[in-house]
Amino acid sequence: MKPILIVGAGFAGAVHARTLAEAGFRVHVIDQRPHIAGNAYDYVDDNGIRVHAYGPHLFHTKMPRVIEWVQKFGAFVPYTHKVRALLPSGVPVPLPINLDTVNAVFGTDYQTAEQVHAHLKSIALPIVEPANAAEHLYANIGLQLTDLFFRPYTKKMWGLDLEDMSAAVVKRIPLRTDRKDTYFADDDVQMMPRDGYTKLFQTIFAHENIRVSLTTRFEKSMLTDYAFCFNAMPIDEYFDFKLGELPYRSLKFHHRTEAGIPEQSWSITNFTDTGPITRETAWHLLPHHIAQNTGRHTLTREEPCDYRDNHMERYYPVKTADGRYNKLYDQYKALAADEQNIAFIGRCGTYQYLDMDQVINQSLTHVEAWLKQRA
Ligand code: UDP
Repeated sequence: MKPILIVGAGFAGAVHARTLAEAGFRVHVIDQRPHIAGNAYDYVDDNGIRVHAYGPHLFHTKMPRVIEWVQKFGAFVPYTHKVRALLPSGVPVPLPINLDTVNAVFGTDYQTAEQVHAHLKSIALPIVEPANAAEHLYANIGLQLTDLFFRPYTKKMWGLDLEDMSAAVVKRIPLRTDRKDTYFADDDVQMMPRDGYTKLFQTIFAHENIRVSLTTRFEKSMLTDYAFCFNAMPIDEYFDFKLGELPYRSLKFHHRTEAGIPEQSWSITNFTDTGPITRETAWHLLPHHIAQNTGRHTLTREEPCDYRDNHMERYYPVKTADGRYNKLYDQYKALAADEQNIAFIGRCGTYQYLDMDQVINQSLTHVEAWLKQRA
């Protein structure tokens, strides 16, 4: 039997490749980039600090089978992610908004979740069926907190107003009325690969049935050499954009070096101002991210932009309130259903804003169903 082609060496491609290889299929993984691990790719920089090339990837999940799957390929260490938002006064406050955030913004001295809950209820707007991100936030936290923590950040992040964005985007950030100050407090497990994501992917691909070719672009003419293709490329690009473009937001990174290895209880600072930068990561505060102690550390600021302004680097599918791009994606999906021996996978293949654990979970489900169908 001909081998199977996997386009994309990120999590979607890696889960498909490994599962198929273990089931006895020969697999060829290609990626147009010069490295594996997709947007999770990390490396150690000149300061001896591990940096994630495409922005911080924090692993968090509720799904036992995802934990079980990733832990087969490397050791993970517990990590509790904390974020602080910088108020215009320069004061850092917990994000997601919690009891201490409310006290800092309103000058109150609440001690209990009930008091915070009552305060938020008193400032929330009576919107019954929120139709967009702005209305969702107004209905939960009122005008002032929305316009402080979400309006400028969302504008710089997406280039769109909160009114134009789907509520699903801001629902990623929970609302807390207690003192918990961790970013993913609702997930059972938060952990990071001890030796980095790139090493994890090396182990996933280390199987006698898997061959990986980097700096290799997908061409339709390749398909005749393979029995099937799992394709994580952008679905609109596969179809030569014939129905129009599916847009993405991208990020430009600004790295800087500072002396010392300072202690701090949070690793990411979000900016509430209207400048171009959304957040800054202090990499050395992530676990095992000091690969070599040089007495220096690296800080990275993120400046969002349209993907066309960043070499077509696709990061975030754009989820608008009217769902216009999801409708366009559905049209591409209908075209894809008529293609023989090809399935689109992952963030760009299915045009979804997915966390790593969701990509792994969806990919496991997808490839297991494919194998079952062929059994
Ligand atoms: N967001 C915001 N202010 C913040 C953090 C997040 O307005 O300080 C909004 C913004 O629209 C963002 C979304 O919430 O795109 C989701 O944030 P998250 O931190 O989950 O984004 P990611 O880590 O995926 O970039």
